[in-house]
Amino acid sequence: MIIVMSSGATEQQIDNVVKKIKEAGLDANISRGTERTVIGAIGDERKLEAEYFEALPGVEQAMHVVKPYKIVGREWHKQDSVIDIKGIPLGGKQIQIIAGPCSVETPEQMALAAQEVHAAGCRLMRGGAFKPRTSPYAFQGHGVEGLAMFRTAAEKYNLPIVTELMDARQLDTFLEYDVDVIQIGTRNMQNFDLLKEVGRTNKPVILKRGMSATISEWLMSAEYIAAGGNHNIIFCERGIRSFETYYRNVLDVTAIPVLKKETHLPVIVDPSHAGGKAWMVPALSRAALAAGADGLLVEMHPNPCEAWCDADQALNAKELKELMGSLSLIAQAVGREI
Ligand code: PEP
Ligand code: MN
Repeated sequence: MIIVMSSGATEQQIDNVVKKIKEAGLDANISRGTERTVIGAIGDERKLEAEYFEALPGVEQAMHVVKPYKIVGREWHKQDSVIDIKGIPLGGKQIQIIAGPCSVETPEQMALAAQEVHAAGCRLMRGGAFKPRTSPYAFQGHGVEGLAMFRTAAEKYNLPIVTELMDARQLDTFLEYDVDVIQIGTRNMQNFDLLKEVGRTNKPVILKRGMSATISEWLMSAEYIAAGGNHNIIFCERGIRSFETYYRNVLDVTAIPVLKKETHLPVIVDPSHAGGKAWMVPALSRAALAAGADGLLVEMHPNPCEAWCDADQALNAKELKELMGSLSLIAQAVGREI
């Protein structure tokens, strides 16, 4: 950490800062300039809080030099991490498209959806059994029953399942049903107790970006999961809030190269919740892959008009197949494959 003293700082104030640094178990290096003094704290600076030093008399500013996310950061782990999902790699050369309905509705809907997801060439399937809805009167998902329906439908095609966990009390049930990838939704990105719980498992976790979260907050949330011992984390950009009302959220394409620089973990994009309209999904998907995304999380439905949730943004089977075709050309252009 670097602590910049204000121009009129006294020797006593400088000594006080040095004393506090030493009390925390670090060493201090004093550098006296013509106008002000800068103190460097040497050692594990993560133990220090910038705000604590900024409140001391004579201190103008305190800043960290080392990134606070040590497990998920690329600083200490240069190579890309590849997450293994039942033998399917996510984060390597091969791009993974995870498709499926917003919510698990009926055994028939899930059976058809699984068949269509598989036929389109996708290797993983999504579907929500526990749904975070804005209104308490809207369909909340079938819960545990939905997990069973999902498992049965996906098993026929050997599709690993991705589904959202909203409450730590459901975690044991998720493990019982052997959910392959736990999705943490945008509304729970900073539910730290939930993050700590999934951090204790070894299940791959898709961590969606909070709708108003900064990249640094998002990385710190991933660090919560990693700190518990689970390093199987996949970031998912799903659009952020803005003043624009034409579409549901703004797909932050810029976040993709930024994350690829800051973390060694895979980054995927959810074009469906970003645009909010099915017709936007192909363009956003292509942009995501061109920008370096390792995969996509796409909503589809055998009959979008009748979807119980997010009907407007679901692709039908034909559209999903066409999307897969157009994406393989983009993948090739950036040295990847689908
Ligand atoms: C979803 O994937 O169905 C979902 C609810 O996503 P988000 O958390 O991004 O809104
Ligand atoms: Mn949805």
